[in-house]
Amino acid sequence: GVVAMVYALQHDDQITESGMRNDPISITRGIEFSLNDYRESGKAIGAIRAGHLTLMLTAGIDPSKVRTMYMAGASGTYVDPVKAKEVGLIVPYCTLAKQVGNTSLELAKDLAFDPDYLEELNSMRDKLLTDHTMFVSSDIFRDLYTYEYGYWAEGMPLSRYRRALERYGVDGYLDQKEPPRVDRLYERDIREIGESLSALDISPVMTASWSCSRCGKCIKECPEKALSMDDGTFSIRTGYCLGTACQRCQEICPLHSYDYSAYRLS
Ligand code: SF4
Ligand code: SF4
Repeated sequence: GVVAMVYALQHDDQITESGMRNDPISITRGIEFSLNDYRESGKAIGAIRAGHLTLMLTAGIDPSKVRTMYMAGASGTYVDPVKAKEVGLIVPYCTLAKQVGNTSLELAKDLAFDPDYLEELNSMRDKLLTDHTMFVSSDIFRDLYTYEYGYWAEGMPLSRYRRALERYGVDGYLDQKEPPRVDRLYERDIREIGESLSALDISPVMTASWSCSRCGKCIKECPEKALSMDDGTFSIRTGYCLGTACQRCQEICPLHSYDYSAYRLS
């Protein structure tokens, strides 16, 4: 949601040299996004962009040759790669963004099936450590992040950052706007785990009721299939629900009847 918000603010020309046109912006009931939120988000986005550049420059990789980005974790499922690229979260020359889902869970599953795989992973880890780049001691990262910080938090013009990148031989990095093709491998955080295993459903259920048309749009919208309705009573399996980070069920309700805060343990 934060990536989408930063993208929307930039696209809507809400961010000006002196601040934000409407500060704060009301997103939904009780949730606002302020200039301070934008700046704090930008510091995090800037750290990732400076990190990508540091890794490529340290490894001698030409950024313009990086055409595929792999996105994992929350970014591997829920973040929109087109918006992520636009705000600077992924390498701007990439033409293909592959969203590979929750790799931590996938790895846990692989290890459950094949415990000997741990040895192979450990040898991979040892190899990684020998070529490790520490941002904290990297002069490139310190230099680039200073510009990121200036841009996001202090209103520094992007032109100064462009000139700094030219000194590193990186031209046009901040100006690539073509949206990438997206290859999203999984629709949900936890995909099917095979026929030989089954997932125990031990999560508590919360229920709520309200008067509405019972159109079912909220249920269809739920990406985790956590929501159901029976005879006017809505139930959420809390172990599957993404909570306040999501709330798509509430947003989609055409009558504004849906009330996420009404849920109580049943
Ligand atoms: S809460 Fe809204 S979206 Fe859900 S069934 Fe009722 S009217 Fe439809
Ligand atoms: S917040 Fe709503 S849409 Fe999102 S996972 Fe939970 S029940 Fe589903």
